[in-house]
Amino acid sequence: MDSVGVAAAAPDAGPGPAWRSKCPWGAPSTTSISCSLADVMSEQLAKELQLEEENAAFPEVVAAAEGPFITGENIDTSSDLMLAQMLQMEFDREYDAQLRREEKKINGDSKVSISFENYRKVHPYDSDSSEDEVDWQDTRHDPYRADKPTTTPRRGFIGKGKDITTKHDEVVCGRKNTARMENFAPEFQVGDGIGMDLKLSNQVFNALKQHAYSEERRSARLHEKKEHSTAEKAVDPKTRLLLYKMVNSGMLETITGCISTGKESVVFHAYGGNSTTEDKVIPPECAIKVFKTTLNEFKNRDKYIKDDYRFKDRFSKLNPRKIIRMWAEKEMHNLTRMQNAGIPCPQVVILKKHVLVMSFIGQDQVPAPKLKDVTLSSEDMKKAYYQILNMMQQLYRECKLVHADLSEYNMLWHDGKVWLIDVSQSVEPTHPHGLEFLFRDCRNVSQFFQKGGVAEALNERELFNAVSGLNITADNEVDFQAEIEALEKMNEDHVQNHGKKLSTFSSDGDPPIYDE
Ligand code: ADP
Ligand code: MN
Repeated sequence: MDSVGVAAAAPDAGPGPAWRSKCPWGAPSTTSISCSLADVMSEQLAKELQLEEENAAFPEVVAAAEGPFITGENIDTSSDLMLAQMLQMEFDREYDAQLRREEKKINGDSKVSISFENYRKVHPYDSDSSEDEVDWQDTRHDPYRADKPTTTPRRGFIGKGKDITTKHDEVVCGRKNTARMENFAPEFQVGDGIGMDLKLSNQVFNALKQHAYSEERRSARLHEKKEHSTAEKAVDPKTRLLLYKMVNSGMLETITGCISTGKESVVFHAYGGNSTTEDKVIPPECAIKVFKTTLNEFKNRDKYIKDDYRFKDRFSKLNPRKIIRMWAEKEMHNLTRMQNAGIPCPQVVILKKHVLVMSFIGQDQVPAPKLKDVTLSSEDMKKAYYQILNMMQQLYRECKLVHADLSEYNMLWHDGKVWLIDVSQSVEPTHPHGLEFLFRDCRNVSQFFQKGGVAEALNERELFNAVSGLNITADNEVDFQAEIEALEKMNEDHVQNHGKKLSTFSSDGDPPIYDE
């Protein structure tokens, strides 16, 4: 079988030793090579290098992250189809690797190079697509994959010729359809369908045609948008592709540039698009928060998770990528809670993997200033203080949250009021250190407004009591903190006795346990 191209990529999914004995990469030598001026020092190479690096650092983790059907958890090896697909993926990858070697050999150090890109089985753009399906296309039917292992597939192009049990006119029609694939855009690889006497049902042909058409448009848009985006310089290729997808789907109009690069995240500004696929109105301006998935971050978080007994059960099996996604997920859930309580904060637009899109606080690409950067009149300062006091109470009581990184750095001044941002680390008050975090927040807020000349500002202990509704009477910080820790311990014991573990991540759906 000629195994080049999209159309021919799926058919081998059928189980059985027949295709196992075939060499899946016989093709490159027989296919004609399309010349392209695309530099090899491009995305694929960058990705390759990154993969090599990751492989060296996290051999087993990366293996799990890369195989779309090998996701590190719940591998269902009892299904023949699943095994066949996993093997197929392996073959495809090996085929691609071989292709890359050929590419390298041919190009050498030449300045003008030949790209084998179009002959790849796993196009870089699609290399994470099955992960996407899990995340955001879970229910979508994939017309290129058989529904279940079946010996007489409904769609003629799976399996061998004798397996296709169709009427005569359908065979003719199928062959005609196969021939018509030649009319697809030249960069759409259809394989040698005629040579292998492929008979495409109308249904499959139409699906392919549709796919070819959207691929063509996508490719055009990709190249067009790529020129204008500054986003690509600040993020890894996988993230870049995720961002492109958002633009290409019409959800975003353009990504204009980077607003902030922090240790754990990069934030971009974007103009919202007018996509109708998501059941949402996209705000005219969006902020895109990309949670960083750098190697260093991997290591740090990995260690943190491993050392924390509470995460052992649940997270020891997860790969670092998934853990990063959880931080993004956490921010989304927390923002949603805040939104529901009416606290001024960014509105969640969509979460895709480790990328959170929310409404932009600011105007015309200019983000609202942080409280630390804005000079407020004493009147506004006082207004801001009372607003924050109120918000902290709402956050605690209605949202059951402690911000845990509340300071003048994470409060924006916009439209004459304070907006809270950056809540990925926010926890429920019942978190083993929740009250300590709250106390820290209170200290930051008190100090900022006391220094800012708000005479009415409560001190940190008063603020803590006002927010939590607790009545800790200690009049000095050391005793106060000791009481806080005692309360936390009490709560932790309560949780242990009730057989429930609290974790930063899992607490969302649960009603908070809090008895004082
Ligand atoms: P980090 O964890 O890096 O501190 P933040 O969520 O605080 O992440 O975002 C970093 C910066 O990006 C913020 O200080 C703010 O200036 C800007 N920013 C983040 N979200 C928004 C938003 N929705 N609208 C406008 N600016 C934002
Ligand atoms: Mn921040």
